[in-house]
Amino acid sequence: MRFRGGYNILLEGKPERQIAVMPEPDALYLPLRSRRFVFSELYVKDGERVNGGDILAKDPDNYAVPLLAPRAGRVQLKEKEGHIVLEEVAKLQERADMAEEELEHIEREMGAGGIKRYKLLALGAWQFFYDAYTGALPDPLGTPQAIIVSTVSLEPFVARGDAQLHKRLLNFTRGLEQLQSLLEYQPIYLVMPDIESEFANLVRNHIRGYAWVKMLEIPLTYPYDDFAILARKLGLKRSDGSVWAVRAEGVLATDRALTLTKPCTVRIISIGGTGVNSPTHVKVMPGYPMKDIRDKYVSEPAARLINGGILTGELLGAETLGVDAECRGLTILPELQERELFGFARPGWDRSCYAVCFLSSLRGKFRERFTTAMRGEGRPCISCNFCEEVCPAGIMPHLIHKYLYRDLIEEADEARVDLCVECGLCSYVCPSKIDLRKQLIDAKVLIEQEKEEIRQEQLRQEEARKQSVEEKSE
Ligand code: SF4
Ligand code: SF4
Repeated sequence: MRFRGGYNILLEGKPERQIAVMPEPDALYLPLRSRRFVFSELYVKDGERVNGGDILAKDPDNYAVPLLAPRAGRVQLKEKEGHIVLEEVAKLQERADMAEEELEHIEREMGAGGIKRYKLLALGAWQFFYDAYTGALPDPLGTPQAIIVSTVSLEPFVARGDAQLHKRLLNFTRGLEQLQSLLEYQPIYLVMPDIESEFANLVRNHIRGYAWVKMLEIPLTYPYDDFAILARKLGLKRSDGSVWAVRAEGVLATDRALTLTKPCTVRIISIGGTGVNSPTHVKVMPGYPMKDIRDKYVSEPAARLINGGILTGELLGAETLGVDAECRGLTILPELQERELFGFARPGWDRSCYAVCFLSSLRGKFRERFTTAMRGEGRPCISCNFCEEVCPAGIMPHLIHKYLYRDLIEEADEARVDLCVECGLCSYVCPSKIDLRKQLIDAKVLIEQEKEEIRQEQLRQEEARKQSVEEKSE
């Protein structure tokens, strides 16, 4: 399989594979928003006592995906804006099983296959699933044309697949079997690194004999693990139906929900970046206090926290008090508060750049100590073509940027901005520091809105035409 573009960013702060367990917190601060979800439908009242696994809220616009209570505790709704706070958190018994009557009722309504999908949703495993092309939550009752399962996470510094699967390969293979039971004949593609390593060989041995799993080995270059790119490479056309995508942690959650009927209320996330004293993975539950993580891991007095990886993560403000329901990792960078003295005159022995313009290009590969410093200001595009070289989608970000600068939305649409997978490499390599990724994402949203308006207008006109024909015939 041949890929285009891509680039590996070497930075200090890569998390170790080890998983640390954080101490039990006194309180949990569950954000009501995460990257894809808004849990606006509350299922609990202020002061109510809940058990681990109980539903606290649901997202009505995303198939009612639930926000579960990771622990038993007392609900506080008014204490912190945008959060459900669980106080008096005690490590009590999780809800072990779903109520029998509930399951019988669902079986009558949806059939035996429906129960599995219901459990995935109700026990918090469904939120680990993505539509490969859009990244949105797929319809749990839908039938995909294929499932892509990835053991690879290439963006620095989100949680690594080998850390997620460490000592849990049996659960992983059981989860794959559970996934397969949701399908009729559709394939499952298992994405693996194309290298010989202890981890890769262990996974290969575990799935030997699973004829319904097709191996897909990819080079470890960012962002070849992107689900939209993989779906395109596999020839899975968007028009032929949805493609479900799930990472190692989602397969483990599937196993937990379907084999054990237990709620999925724990996540393994990475804590990486140059602002961390010992980059690692940690086992936490959603709502885990950000302050406790900061106190334990952040080595810098001033640091910027990013929810997710360094290229696609979102800045975390002080208002976010706990780990959100979709968090895959925290990237922590030292905040550069003063200008570097004579920064412009430095030959760059310790800096790396796609342009090979620093003295460090004589050093060979090394991990750069990355900070939030811009090192200069934004400039106009110099047509260096770097963004096009690295773009895995095969589009021309610089050209689209120029169209957008002149408000030529139609031309941006014709230049296939829709193919952008939002990997952020173009922004990273741009020597003019243009935030191409954001510009392209905004343009995609705008174009989609305009197309939707045109569709609605056409529907209205069609309705009006039908109505007038009916009126004339009466
Ligand atoms: S244009 Fe999109 S897909 Fe291409 S490099 Fe930029 S963010 Fe990635
Ligand atoms: S990388 Fe930046 S400066 Fe170079 S062509 Fe792309 S937009 Fe222009």
